Parts: sequence; C-alpha cells; structure tokens
Amino acid sequence: MGEGILFVISGPSGTGKGTVCRKLVERTGIHFSVSMTTRKPRPGEVEGKSYYFVSEETYSRVLEEKGFLEWANVHGNRYGTPREEVLKQLDRGRDVLLDIDVQGALQVKKNFPQAVLIFLLPPSMAELRRRITGRRSETPEAIAARMAAAMGEISRADQYDYCVINDKVEAAADRVEAIMKAEHSRVSDSVYELIEKYKKEERGEMSL
Ligand code: ADP
Ligand code: 5GP
Repeated sequence: MGEGILFVISGPSGTGKGTVCRKLVERTGIHFSVSMTTRKPRPGEVEGKSYYFVSEETYSRVLEEKGFLEWANVHGNRYGTPREEVLKQLDRGRDVLLDIDVQGALQVKKNFPQAVLIFLLPPSMAELRRRITGRRSETPEAIAARMAAAMGEISRADQYDYCVINDKVEAAADRVEAIMKAEHSRVSDSVYELIEKYKKEERGEMSL
C-alpha cells in the first residue's frame, strides 16, 4: 500500500453509513470506493455513483479474476469492492473510504492490517428500526431480516479500531473526521525519516 489510508465504515443496515459517508465525501473530498453489486437499484440510485449494478455473470467473472479487494453475500445479494481502483488511489497518496458490511471489513483487516476500521452504531435498536422502516425501500420481511442480522453484527464491534454512535449526522461525521485526522499523525515507519531529518539539521547547525 502507498501513502493513503484505507478507512472502512461498517455497521448494521440502516444505521446511517451511506448518509455519514456522503457527508464525509462532501466535507473532505475523500475518495469513496463504489462497490459492485448484483442487487437491483433502488429509486434514486445512480449507476457508477451508488454502485456498479451488474449481473450474476459479471460479478462471478470479476470474483474469479480476483478483481475484488473483499466481497460478501449480504441479505441475499452479492457485493464486492473493486480492487484496482482502491490500490491506485492509495498509491497516489489519497485516502479511500469503504462502506461495507462486517464480513467484508474483517477480510480487509486480515489482508491490510494497516486499514482503519470504524464501526457505526445506532443510538438504540428502536432508532435503528425507525431508520430502516423510514427508508421505505425494504419489504417487512427484509426489515425483519436486517433487524435480526443487526445484533450479530453489533456483537463484532469489538474487532474494530473505533466505534462511533450515529446520533446526529453532523456530530457523527465530526467524530469520524477526528479519527481520520488522528490517524494521519499516528507514529509509523516514516517517523525514522523525520528523526534523521532533525539529526541532520542539528549536525549541520553544530558544524557552523
Ligand atoms: P445504511 O447505509 O447504514 O444502510 P442509510 O444511510 O441509508 O443507512 O440511512 C438509513 C436511514 O436513516 C435513511 O433514511 C437516513 O436518512 C436516516 N439517517 C441516517 N443517519 C441519521 C441520523 N443521524 N439521524 C436520523 N436519521 C438518520
Ligand atoms: P445496501 O444494499 O443496503 O446498499 O447495502 C447492504 C449492505 O451491504 C450494507 O451493510 C453495505 O455496507 C454492504 N456493502 C455495500 N457494498 C459492499 C461491498 O463492496 N462489500 C461488502 N462486503 N459489503 C458491502
């Protein structure tokens, strides 16, 4: 991986990941990775912006060609993160943001331990149900399935680097932005270059 940081946001369906990610893109211009899915578009979703909506055949081909950084079956549909674009952006030194499910996030952590995993939590289960229902895009059966899956997902929050409660969108985005800024000041191997720079400067000054 290059200089950019790979940030992964996940959490139960309806918790507000899409909403918070859009806010972050708006505020910071971070590169948002558009996933590929076999799900049908919802009203208002835009091809190439919300997702790349593809057939089962296309998805299977990309999977076979190892074109996904991570992938998962979620609520009966298949999703994957196109590998090449993410690596290209990171190599260019740009941060990348993924909005993916828990299975996918843990695959990313395994393959890229330096990725930063952020779990977005709803303020309560009642509010989660209100948000899923309020979106009016799922059938009652689909809502029940998402609520049932939510507890299993939430119980894996302890495998993440950070937990953020999405009470108010602006406040949640503030917290994620703070995490992003802090991660850029984390001590890494580049600290040795800095130490050398200071040593060199100090030696130079002493020999004057
Ligand atoms: P996800 O991407 O996690 O499935 P969405 O971003 O689609 O969730 O949000 C689900 C619903 O909850 C949407 O109708 C969205 O407008 C609403 N929502 C998101 N965040 C908040 C919030 N902080 N307060 C109230 N409603 C929210
Ligand atoms: P939705 O169909 O509601 O847009 O998304 C359903 C779930 O799939 C969400 O939890 C979302 O984060 C997840 N998801 C979206 N894209 C990907 C992806 O590329 N990989 C994985 N693992 N999950 C994804």
